[in-house]
Amino acid sequence: MSKINVYKCSKGHETITIDTPNRDVTPFQITCPECKDDAISSGYTVPQDLKPTYEWFIPKTIAEYKEACVPIYGDVFTDKEYDGMLDGKSTMYRKIK
Ligand SMILES: [Zn+2]
Repeated sequence: MSKINVYKCSKGHETITIDTPNRDVTPFQITCPECKDDAISSGYTVPQDLKPTYEWFIPKTIAEYKEACVPIYGDVFTDKEYDGMLDGKSTMYRKIK
């Protein structure tokens, strides 16, 4: 099963992602971490030896969720909102350190 995917925005930024081992369905569209424009999925039709820059994961805590979200979306969600998004199934993407 393919795990490496590329999301491209209209400005040409490429976000190379790797899926979690037990993945949920990853979205067709994400926010480009570089320019905040919409970035569209390549549908896994990319070489699987690309080096990923972002990883999908399932956030377990508000802190973990926030650490991934804030660099991409800014500090826009309250702790209560993060808590509501922590369903133990939904995936989020974060920069690989
Ligand atoms: Zn971009």
